[in-house]
Amino acid sequence: MSDFVSQGGPQTLCHSCGSDTMEPVPGLEDLGLVTSDCRPWDGRRFLSWCPCCGLVQKCVDQDFHADCCRIYDSYAVYHQSGGQEQKTFGADGAGVARSEHLLRGLQSHLPLPDSGRLLDVGCGNGVLLKSFGALNPAWTLCGLDLDDRSREVVKALPGVEDFYCCDLMEVPGSFDVVSMMHCLEHVLAPVEFLRKTARLLEPGGLLLVEVPDFATNPFDLAIADHCTHFTPETLKGVARRAGFEPVLLERGLVSKELTLLARLTSAPNPTCKMTDSRKEALRALDWMTRTLRVAAEIPPQELGIFGTSIAGVWLFNCLGRKAEFFVDEDQSRVGHPLFGLPVVSPSQLQSGQTVFLSFPPAIAKSIAARMADSPARLVLPPER
Ligand SMILES: [Zn+2]
Repeated sequence: MSDFVSQGGPQTLCHSCGSDTMEPVPGLEDLGLVTSDCRPWDGRRFLSWCPCCGLVQKCVDQDFHADCCRIYDSYAVYHQSGGQEQKTFGADGAGVARSEHLLRGLQSHLPLPDSGRLLDVGCGNGVLLKSFGALNPAWTLCGLDLDDRSREVVKALPGVEDFYCCDLMEVPGSFDVVSMMHCLEHVLAPVEFLRKTARLLEPGGLLLVEVPDFATNPFDLAIADHCTHFTPETLKGVARRAGFEPVLLERGLVSKELTLLARLTSAPNPTCKMTDSRKEALRALDWMTRTLRVAAEIPPQELGIFGTSIAGVWLFNCLGRKAEFFVDEDQSRVGHPLFGLPVVSPSQLQSGQTVFLSFPPAIAKSIAARMADSPARLVLPPER
C-alpha cells in the first residue's frame, strides 16, 4: 500500500503539508529503537517538527523506507502472547483487551445504532473487529490491511463480511463507521489518507482514530516505523485539514493514547490551536535519556525489565539486550520466553532481583503500589 511505504530520497519536506521549513528535534538519533510489533530494531532515526502544520515527525529518508519494508514483511502482531491482544490494566490489576476497553469507553460518550457497517483500516489480525462484533452483534464488519496474512483469521470472526488487501480507493461500498486503530501514525500523508477515507463514509458517518499520545508516552518516539507523532492539537489539525470536524477528542480514554471521533463537515475549518509540540518532543526525549541512564546503573545480571511491550523492549535494546528476565502482569505472556529470556509474573519475583519499571512515571507508580510486598527491589523511572 503506497500510503504506508513509498519510494523516495532523503526527505526535507513535511510529509503531511509539504512545507520546506522543517526544524530538527535533536536527541532521538542517540537512542535505540523498537518496532511497532515490539521487536528490538537496529538503526537511527531523526526527528523533526513542521512549524507550518505543527506535526512532530520522523525524517522519512531511504533508511526509513527500507526499514519499514523489512518490518512489515515479518510483522508479528502480539507475538509475546501468541497473537492475543495487548491488555490494559486497572488499579486493581485486572486486565481487559485494549480494544474492548476503548469501545466500552466510547459507548458511554456516543451510543451507536443497533445495526450498521464498519470498516477497520489496518485491521491486523482483527482484534478491533472481534471486540466491536461482540458489543454490536447486528453490525456488518469489514477489515482492510497491508497484506493477506490474516485474511482467513479475520474472515472467520463473527459479523465479518469481507477482508480487503488493496488501496483505500479500491474498497467497495460505504460505511457508517471507519476505524483506524494504531494506523494513522504509520501513514506518510495523513491528511491525504483521511481525505481518501472520507469517500467511504455514509453521510453523517463517523471516523474513529486511535493513535499514541507521545506527550504522555514518550516511548512512541522510538518506534522505528511510526512516522508521525501526534498531540491532541495536531491530531485535530490533521482531521480538520482533511474535512472532518471532531466530535470527541479524548486523552487517556485508553491509557497513553489519543482517541478521535469525527464527522465530515460541509464547512471545513482548517484552523487549530498551534501549541509547541516541538517543546513536548524535546521534553519527552530528555526524559527517555534520563530513564535510560537510571536503568543502565543496574547490574545486568540482576536486572528484570517490567513490561514486554514497546517500552520494555525499547529499554532491553538500549541496554545492549542485556537483562536476566522480563516481568509482566499479563498472564498470556508469562511463561513464553521473549528474546531468549524468561517472562515471569510479579508473584514469582525473589529477593536479590532488581526490577526496572519501564513505563511513564504515573503508570510505574501505580504498578509499584500494587507490588508493595514484592521481595524484589523495584526501580522507577525519573520524574518528567
Ligand atoms: Zn507540515
